[in-house]
Amino acid sequence: MRLAPVRPGGDRWASVNQDIGIAPVEYLGDGDRDSLVPAYHSYRRLDLRGSAGMHDDERLSAAFSAWEESLAVSGMTLRLERQALYGVPLARTNRWSVDARGISLRPWDIELTAIEARLRGIVKWDLVPKEFADVLREGAERRGLLVELVVPQDAQREGSVTLVASHDAAILAEARELEQSLLTPGAQASAPRMGELLGYPPCCVRRFARVAEHNDTTLAWALLPGAGAPASPLTQWLQPGLALVSHSPCEVDCAASIALGQRLLDAVDAVESGFAAHWRSFAARVQVVDQRGNRLALAVDGSLDTPRKVMASDLLSSGGPDAHAVENAASLVGKWITIDSGGLVATNFGWYAPYVADHRGES
Ligand SMILES: [Zn+2]
Repeated sequence: MRLAPVRPGGDRWASVNQDIGIAPVEYLGDGDRDSLVPAYHSYRRLDLRGSAGMHDDERLSAAFSAWEESLAVSGMTLRLERQALYGVPLARTNRWSVDARGISLRPWDIELTAIEARLRGIVKWDLVPKEFADVLREGAERRGLLVELVVPQDAQREGSVTLVASHDAAILAEARELEQSLLTPGAQASAPRMGELLGYPPCCVRRFARVAEHNDTTLAWALLPGAGAPASPLTQWLQPGLALVSHSPCEVDCAASIALGQRLLDAVDAVESGFAAHWRSFAARVQVVDQRGNRLALAVDGSLDTPRKVMASDLLSSGGPDAHAVENAASLVGKWITIDSGGLVATNFGWYAPYVADHRGES
């Protein structure tokens, strides 16, 4: 169990039930924080020894009912919002390494294009290996930007730096100070202003602040609806190689993110004619990360409510060292996929995708 209070500086507790495992719990809103204590203890004390012979699904529903009953004693209700396929954590994509396998269409300098189009006040590059810092700085300065370097003090980020760039000296000074304070663990009060300078829509900044942990896996569970009604390709963020926006939209239908994505697409297309059509041919698809961590763009016709045949399957990036990743991705073509617990499953093919974002909608 992970209990993560949203208030800045709050404690995080971890609780594990030996029979059942770990249940992630996100605490939302400004409700009664005392409710965390009985929720934490009641989960730890659940006794499921009687369920030894049960099938996984039955065990899950037995655990759910037992927890529901136990919480009712403390006057709390439990609601199952989403049942999902098990998925390994999403790998953090390292923007600074060159991965020869797969397809990446996101222009490396899209954020510089965005600042030139006045769609943001600053550009910030995080976790930049020191050897790349000078190249980035020179590139930004050539485009008329002022650049500041922020060196993090914590050991985890050792060997890397943060670069902040802006056209405006006063904004740059403010951003430098904000970044310095954000690098202090637990100090998140500057986050909304930083989000504003980065051009992120306020609705998305607010939603982001309420997500328990800011890694891609937690964000995907919190912000992606699973397989469902198709959304615009412009809000795509599950695939870093196709994302136009630099934030995680509060929802795949976020109007402010769609508008921002369109302006970014127009700006890139104005410099690189034909980019928009090429990008759309991959972005306006069903985007998935499969059980091996492979990121795929699937072309599928029609609603996913009924089984559909995969018409094209392209590898955007592989989940690990796999010499046959491209061929394996292509082998999905012609297979039938169907929705299962918010993910996609290719029946009788030993393939499934826990993370799904359908971006075939109108933009
Ligand atoms: Zn939003």
